[in-house]
Amino acid sequence: MMEIIARQREYLAGQIGNGVTGNLASFKANGASTEKGVGLLRGPDGQLPQQLRNIEPRLIEQISNEIIDSNTNVHWDDIAGLHHAKKCVNEMVIWPLLRPDIFKGCRSQGRGLLLFGPPGTGKTMIGKAIAGESKATFFYISASSVTSMWVGEGEKLVRALFGVARCHQPAVIFVDEIDSLLSKRNHIMSMSQPGELRHRATNRPQDLDEAARRRLTKRFYITLPSAEARAWIIRTLLNKDGLFKLSKKDIDTICKLTDGYSGSDMTNLVKDASMGPIREVLKQGGEITNLKMEDMRSVTLKDFKDALKEVRPSVSWNELRIYEEWNNQFGSLS
Ligand code: ADP
Repeated sequence: MMEIIARQREYLAGQIGNGVTGNLASFKANGASTEKGVGLLRGPDGQLPQQLRNIEPRLIEQISNEIIDSNTNVHWDDIAGLHHAKKCVNEMVIWPLLRPDIFKGCRSQGRGLLLFGPPGTGKTMIGKAIAGESKATFFYISASSVTSMWVGEGEKLVRALFGVARCHQPAVIFVDEIDSLLSKRNHIMSMSQPGELRHRATNRPQDLDEAARRRLTKRFYITLPSAEARAWIIRTLLNKDGLFKLSKKDIDTICKLTDGYSGSDMTNLVKDASMGPIREVLKQGGEITNLKMEDMRSVTLKDFKDALKEVRPSVSWNELRIYEEWNNQFGSLS
């Protein structure tokens, strides 16, 4: 069984470049080596499975190296908020992956899942959690790799991807920036055989054409984190490093000041605030090489207030309005 999740491209051009390069680079580091990647697909006779025999080995190698992420390691508990989306994704994707014997006939699930919403809100995390929770192989493909990195080879690459994924079942295929594959401008994805494409996701839902919308039967709006989810991110990240000493009142104040921050903005904010105690020691003439952990004070509300001047929200109210309007018209969650 194979699931496909996709999401749309980021609004900022800078984020497209950075995100894709970063992701592909880290996947390379995590993934198996070329020989191992292709080697794993060979049978005892040293032959590739039938469905891969007419695919160029070079493409299989590229997929094995750059698209398979063998170390997703994300679970539902790592994702703040989004309770309803998690519940629905569980029912629609994870349970059927874990128990294909039960989820057939009337219980077989819709063929398309779209995750849409502003950048940095957890769409990729959900894709990885699906793979992590269902013990499936996670394939990450970014539309910009199909349309630019493999110029002119998009269709071949998509076919090869499906072939390799079929050999790694259960598999989750996460298509990033799906809008550029399924928009009015481009239809590479429709080259895959009908029935294979099960779930996809996106950041510019308004670019999806009507046919694509019809295939993505469930469309979940992945929203900016609520105040409660923002508090959860602060507490969880600081706790991980044993730095959490803030009072409930402090947290409430930070949450009030971070209305409109994405999950990714919150992560950056916590990182910046946690530098506060170090910056202070250095400002007082201390040296980084002599700094003792036990001498460092904990992170305070003031550190957060300072960090708020550096880390600004990345999503504009205008962008949000577009997602909300699209959600009202086509989204699955109320
Ligand atoms: P996108 O929606 O653009 O796919 P990601 O899932 O890649 O966003 O999130 C980017 C980073 O922001 C994550 O690695 C994580 O550190 C943080 N983040 C975003 N949303 C959440 C969330 N709901 N809970 C916890 N961390 C989050």
